[in-house]
Amino acid sequence: MSDQAANDPQALLAKAEAFLKLQEEVYAPIGEVPRPKKATASAEAAKPAPSASQQQPQTQIQGEQQNKAQAMPQTHDQAPEPSIDKNQTQPDLTTSLENCKTLEELKAFCEAAEILKTDLENTRLVFGKGNPQADLLLIGEAPGAKEDQMGEPFVGASGNLLTKILGAIKVDRSQIYIANILKHRPPDNRNPTADERTRSLPYLERQIDLIQPKLILCLGLISAQTLLQSTAALKDMRGSFYPYRGAELMVTYHPAALLRNSNLKRGTWEDVQTLRQRYDALGCKPELPPYL
Ligand code: URA
Repeated sequence: MSDQAANDPQALLAKAEAFLKLQEEVYAPIGEVPRPKKATASAEAAKPAPSASQQQPQTQIQGEQQNKAQAMPQTHDQAPEPSIDKNQTQPDLTTSLENCKTLEELKAFCEAAEILKTDLENTRLVFGKGNPQADLLLIGEAPGAKEDQMGEPFVGASGNLLTKILGAIKVDRSQIYIANILKHRPPDNRNPTADERTRSLPYLERQIDLIQPKLILCLGLISAQTLLQSTAALKDMRGSFYPYRGAELMVTYHPAALLRNSNLKRGTWEDVQTLRQRYDALGCKPELPPYL
């Protein structure tokens, strides 16, 4: 603080007001209560997880997150934190994420988050794309070269196949939302590390809470294992609906795996038909034309 501000109460007040205005612009009106989550899908509606060992960690994680949020109430009567920490490692990341009230605000917050980057330099944020009101959310692994170039998920070879798979159940990409576990491209298209996934997860969770989908489809092992906090094989996670952040989550193969092994196409076709039937049964929006 300058000597002038320290000695002049008017200057001090002006400084505090400017800080609060900036906070409001970057996050949300100070003191606003976070939007409550939409009612969760009933446990009966979702088929039970195949095994207790897979289900338990997920329940535990949700409980931990609630506890964390309760343990860190936003207190504005304390000295304000100095400006934005680009690494966003401050203990109130949860609060900062909750203060992002729209996908646009969250995207702006992610743009500033060094912590979301991998060790590949100069990558572009691939935040996610689609209908923000979608009841169906697809989550892949991480952006590749084309996605990094375009700033959009699934626009390369895997994306072309994904568009066709969705077309087979009469879903147009503009009707749903598509995101990835990582929002930046890893070098050489390697698998995201455990650390990268852990660092990215709170941002994705906030994105999911803002979209409030009824159905989530995990594309591939990395996506499924990260969200379900499981080490199970993909074939063992397929075929069930898991309760996840108020949605029902199911798992299928990654389109890139189908490009490598066409034997997986049949299973994927079965999975997306199951997904489409559940979409209709839950009355998901937008309504889709018959697919058979
Ligand atoms: N693979 C993914 O998992 N995500 C993309 O966005 C592209 C390819």
